[in-house]
Amino acid sequence: MALGTASTRIDRALTVRDLLATGKTSYSFEFFAPKTPKGERNLWNSLRRVEAVAPSFVSVTYGAGGSTRAGTVKETQQIVADTTLTPVAHLTAVDHSVAELRNIIGQYADAGIRNMLALRGDPPGDPMGDWVPHTQGLTYAAELVRLIKESGDFCVGVAAFPEMHPRSPDWDSDIRHFVDKCRAGADYAITQMFFDPENYLRMRDRVAAAGCDTPVIPEVMPVTNVKQLARLPQLSNAVFPEHVKERMLTAKDDPAAVRSMGIEFATEFCARLLAEGVPGLHFITLNNSTATLEIYENLGLQEQQQA
Ligand code: FAD
Repeated sequence: MALGTASTRIDRALTVRDLLATGKTSYSFEFFAPKTPKGERNLWNSLRRVEAVAPSFVSVTYGAGGSTRAGTVKETQQIVADTTLTPVAHLTAVDHSVAELRNIIGQYADAGIRNMLALRGDPPGDPMGDWVPHTQGLTYAAELVRLIKESGDFCVGVAAFPEMHPRSPDWDSDIRHFVDKCRAGADYAITQMFFDPENYLRMRDRVAAAGCDTPVIPEVMPVTNVKQLARLPQLSNAVFPEHVKERMLTAKDDPAAVRSMGIEFATEFCARLLAEGVPGLHFITLNNSTATLEIYENLGLQEQQQA
């Protein structure tokens, strides 16, 4: 099969839900809307490289504050218009009234986007600050799932947290609220980044024990340099394995060695998850697809997709 026509690509008429229902493993990549012309060129170079391996879908995050939000709508519309990729548009409830959210959902629908990821979002500025909903807005992601579902025939994903959402007081309430989102109509979930497969497996067991069978796709964050390692605590509460961290820090003056340790770790991490029967892998690219594509190739996925 030629590049660009791999068997797991979602037909534009299809959705992530339809793809997962086939039982095929989904492979997808996450991007963000850039703020500068250079960032725009980076994004599109990366999208074109990813397009060549025919992923199941690509997603575009929704910025926490003003400027990149319109960018998310624009980039996802352009992905539909100018590529063969299937975009999943992220949307958050931050600083939006219900009327504004309906308007954005309408813009996505007009552009032919049927896949969305519904998120509550974090307070702009300080993600751990008090969450204050818009006076005419929504408080939790479950409400956004309902709003999108009421607005049309959308396939909706939600967030899951293998190390528990940092605001959740305990696992019971975390899982209960996750299951609420699924019962509100979510078709699948994508996790927060994590680095220990056991955390995902334990969360999956908890969700199953709560009677919920919504597929949960693990998110993969390749850590390939010491700067990223230092930034991890700002990005999430995920714990990076101390032994890998130490090896990377010891080799910090040799960026190529650090990079190859990061790629090797991420490849083993993905292989373990695939062996555990995960429904897919969702790679964070940070708009630079080189590392993710290397992991993809190490796993032999390129050949599988083309077989
Ligand atoms: P919710 O599901 O609403 O949960 C938030 C907290 O409230 C949890 O602790 C939950 O247990 C609790 N809760 C839920 N319902 C109730 C209830 N009824 N009563 C009491 N407590 C409740 N952020 C962005 O700004 N833009 C993005 O594009 C983006 N993409 C993401 C993609 C993925 C895959 C993930 C995992 C996260 C992403 N985020 C993004 C971050 C996300 O917005 C934050 O993690 C946010 O803090 C939680 O969003 P949520 O949708 O899980 O919220």
